[in-house]
Amino acid sequence: MTDNLKRFQISCPVFWGFNRFVDISKANSINDCINLFLQTHREFLFEQNYIDLLNYFDAHKSEYHIHDLTFDDIKNTNEIIYVCRHCQETENSESNLSENVLENNLNKDQYKNSILNLY
Ligand SMILES: [Zn+2]
Repeated sequence: MTDNLKRFQISCPVFWGFNRFVDISKANSINDCINLFLQTHREFLFEQNYIDLLNYFDAHKSEYHIHDLTFDDIKNTNEIIYVCRHCQETENSESNLSENVLENNLNKDQYKNSILNLY
């Protein structure tokens, strides 16, 4: 038996490292788990008054996903569960955080999406 508190961590170029224990006893799917965890991150940004980061996060929330785990795997693991938003980014050589990263990322993502649509 494992308990319902699972440790999730964000794996993305901007918010990497944020982690929380989340009670997944009410979750019915991987998406529920992701949403519960992302909600704790959203509340954190809100409480800290990181308004620009919050807007950025909201704009990218739908890109987060979990690799290689089924919902059963999540229920049975005691390991850290990584919630990823790296895939879109790693295809580009630029990975340094600059002061302009928030504004740039919005444009870059649109650019990248238009590139991806070519394939
Ligand atoms: Zn990924």
